Amino acid sequence: MEHTIHHGPEGGIVFEAFCMTVGCDATSGGQEEQEAALDWALRHTGRTGHDVFRRECTDHARVIRRE
Ligand SMILES: [Zn+2]
Repeated sequence: MEHTIHHGPEGGIVFEAFCMTVGCDATSGGQEEQEAALDWALRHTGRTGHDVFRRECTDHARVIRRE
């Protein structure tokens, strides 16, 4: 039995920003819109002065069994 893996569009794409300042583990949480993650980063910088973020964009995959 073989399996193949494909992009799974039904799961959508998740955007998240992570603050990279040492000692700060703040993140935007998973957002459906990229802009929401970026807005969170702008607000976080405004509040804290932290100005380096890791941006993550995650898709979903589906494994399909071929008989
Ligand atoms: Zn921070």
